[in-house]
Amino acid sequence: MDDLKYGTRNKRGDWAPTEPAATAPLFTFPPQPLKLLRWLPHYFLPFNVLWAASAVAWWLWVIPDVETMRSLAWGWVLWLYAVNALAIFVFFGAVELRLYVLRAQGNRFKYNGKWPSEQPSDVFWFRSQNLDNALRGFLIGIPIWTLFEVMMLWAYANGIGPWVALADHPWYLAMVALLVPVIHEAHFFCIHRLIHTPFLYKWVHSIHHNSVNPSPWSSLSMHPVEHLAYFATIFYHFLIPSNPLIALYQLHTAGFGAIPGHIGFDKMEIGENRALDSHAYIHYLHHKFFEVNYGDGLIPLDKWFGTFHDGSKDGEARMNARFQAKKARLNAKNGSAA
Ligand SMILES: [Zn+2]
Ligand SMILES: [Zn+2]
Repeated sequence: MDDLKYGTRNKRGDWAPTEPAATAPLFTFPPQPLKLLRWLPHYFLPFNVLWAASAVAWWLWVIPDVETMRSLAWGWVLWLYAVNALAIFVFFGAVELRLYVLRAQGNRFKYNGKWPSEQPSDVFWFRSQNLDNALRGFLIGIPIWTLFEVMMLWAYANGIGPWVALADHPWYLAMVALLVPVIHEAHFFCIHRLIHTPFLYKWVHSIHHNSVNPSPWSSLSMHPVEHLAYFATIFYHFLIPSNPLIALYQLHTAGFGAIPGHIGFDKMEIGENRALDSHAYIHYLHHKFFEVNYGDGLIPLDKWFGTFHDGSKDGEARMNARFQAKKARLNAKNGSAA
């Protein structure tokens, strides 16, 4: 595909889409029913359906029977870790292999002209973004994901938690399942904004931001404290009546769902004339400019808080004006303190 039909490439080789990034028309006021109707399939396809389907597959073929989960034992805990790790290895690895190792579509639709493997840096373990990011994911991120999964399943097996059966309340649970991406987005925005405060940024979140040019392995490359906060969305299902299958879907939305924002490409080409939109631009801009786009645009929280950057020239001017104002505020504060 000709990516210059959809965007422009600057002298550094960075590609940017012509269309500014847009937030979903889900919570807009006044409501825009036509826009909402056109957008609605994107709420399900392809990603959320994929995460939900993976939860069903886990429930059917991976999760042990209730009797086994009543007592904690290394056997089933390690089994769950192994399956989660293998799934991430295959899924993220396939994207990495196609786009970054084989470079099947060259740099078409690639936001950053450079390749992480060609940019060794001291900020990374072994000076390698790929090794550092992958190791943090497999050694810390997936164990914490599995730990929360085990806690939820053990609690369910022992009757702890406000669980309701699918057969008893199918419509109510369908509504909870529909809310899973909204819960994820609201939670992610709040914790993400929090870890951008100076102290937490320095000690926790800067690890994730070492990858200025994110690639698939960056998705779960975080400080353990961020992993704990990120995967904590599962605990909302201890606060509202829910079902373990939906709690699992919530967890998969965090685990598998971390990748779209970190693909580094706007589109993944499928054959000659077709491509899959990654919707990665909003989060790519966050990795590039840091203090914009704390959310992923499902709920327009960044618009409400004035931190949204759509990638356009206007968006950049608004961001720079905000940064200048912040600098002036800090200078005035330091001046009056001195
Ligand atoms: Zn990120
Ligand atoms: Zn951040």
